[in-house]
Amino acid sequence: MPTPLEVLAEEASACTKCKLATAGRTKVVFGMGDPEADLMFIGEAPGAEEDKQGLPFVGRSGQLLDKVLFEELGITRERVWICNLIKCRPPGNRDPEPDEIEACRPWLERQIELIEPKVIVTLGNFATKLLLETKEGITKLRGRSYPFRTGVLIPTFHPAAVLRGGGEPMAQMRADFIRAKQALAGAGALA
Ligand code: URA
Repeated sequence: MPTPLEVLAEEASACTKCKLATAGRTKVVFGMGDPEADLMFIGEAPGAEEDKQGLPFVGRSGQLLDKVLFEELGITRERVWICNLIKCRPPGNRDPEPDEIEACRPWLERQIELIEPKVIVTLGNFATKLLLETKEGITKLRGRSYPFRTGVLIPTFHPAAVLRGGGEPMAQMRADFIRAKQALAGAGALA
């Protein structure tokens, strides 16, 4: 018997709810990791490599995510759930558009409901603004945690922005990961 999350992934793989379905996507990138994870990362949208493999964060941004996850929390991606706000690659890696975000949102909401993470780390502006329902930017929002559903939400920079921005954003991202580790420990979860 497939699990509810597996059923959802199967449904999502044939999604045609927005124009990205016919804009050259190769694969729907649903998400990967532990379906019972206490910690969930939510990025923006698949890039070229993710679209090819059908897996989230497998390019340069993903390498940075894996590195900081291991260095600050001592774990690998198999222990967490990693997904994106948008499940299909926008052509040319352009920003997701409002109608695409709205159309895709139910997949993400259902993932959150089924996985019930204690801590969600949003990577970058798009996921952070949507889930916190604010127009405020990531630079203002990061640096603290927010009560969210059954746990907390910790916003941080997108790894691609850290790759571009160098030392300062890198140090801030590390601090946010340490905040996530502390929140998990506080919730009696994976530390
Ligand atoms: N950037 C994202 O936001 N998500 C990915 O999966 C890869 C790069």
